[in-house]
Amino acid sequence: MAKLKKQDPKVYAAMLGELKRQQEGMELIASENYVSPAVLEALGSVFTNKYSEGLPGKRYYGGQTYTDVVENLAIERAKKLFGAEHVNVQPLSGCPANMIVYSAILKPGDTVLGMDLSHGGHLSHGHPVTLSAKIYRFVRYKTDETGKIDYEQLEKMAIQEKPKLILAGFSAYTRQLDYQKFKDIAQKVGAITMFDIAHIAGLIAGKAIPNPVPYFDVITTTTHKTLRGPRGGMIMCKQQFAEVIDKAVFPGFQGGPHMNNIAALAVALGEALKPSFKVYAKQIIKNAKVLEQELKKYGFKLMFGGTDNHMVLVDVFSSKGITGIEAE
Ligand SMILES: *Cc1c(COP(=O)(O)O)cnc(C)c1O
Repeated sequence: MAKLKKQDPKVYAAMLGELKRQQEGMELIASENYVSPAVLEALGSVFTNKYSEGLPGKRYYGGQTYTDVVENLAIERAKKLFGAEHVNVQPLSGCPANMIVYSAILKPGDTVLGMDLSHGGHLSHGHPVTLSAKIYRFVRYKTDETGKIDYEQLEKMAIQEKPKLILAGFSAYTRQLDYQKFKDIAQKVGAITMFDIAHIAGLIAGKAIPNPVPYFDVITTTTHKTLRGPRGGMIMCKQQFAEVIDKAVFPGFQGGPHMNNIAALAVALGEALKPSFKVYAKQIIKNAKVLEQELKKYGFKLMFGGTDNHMVLVDVFSSKGITGIEAE
């Protein structure tokens, strides 16, 4: 990084500071990860210079010989890794990916049944402060006292509210979902199913938890959490939704894809296909289990009683009378 150091010492110094902070600090943010040097190289590559609106083989700009290669690699690797029928790797991040899917399959005013934010769901699943909540009608299901999703209540709500879309997915939930139950409930009321696997994509890719992709009509994910890729989003779906989703990505919602991200995603997905990634994913869960058990020994109360994934949620207030910020 000699050129950056010379040209812009202020940015360079901040970057070195961040590197040291990441290396020496104790990072306990479950949505973060460390990409490999190869992913970083692809991310900082000449692909950042290129406009590639459209899809491989069908672009609106010339000069796509190599962008097509990397985007096809990313798509093929994602299909193989998750057993997906169709993949779009262009969404710029997780929230845009969700907005894109809503716009592809819903009309303004349609009802969506999603998980409540305060019970583990994500902002982009219709929280009142978001744009999606202004366009669609979100009804939220909750978890019970033990932290389990109450599927009976979910079914009752589905029958009562007749949602066009039933949404699974979470950012602060530590238990395994019953994929089949979501599918059965959706079938009963004729709803489309979507699972936002942003947090757990890497655990699924590493086969450390069951793969939901065959069960759901549409899957959205970020690529930078447990999947250990560059920041970005990805949509996987059944073939019947392929066309509407591709069109909703571009030109519906976005312009040019970020090809350096897509190149880096191809590299990360290549890593996730290796046997070593299975070891990595299993180790993440083992580590979380150890953290869970040790925290319990120290008298911390854990939300949902413990964890089945990479997240450990500590109720620091009722255990120790301090706030989350104080604990951090
Ligand atoms: C992190 C997360 C997102 C948002 O992703 P961004 O890349 O920050 O936009 C969306 N959904 C879920 C479930 C998440 O955990």
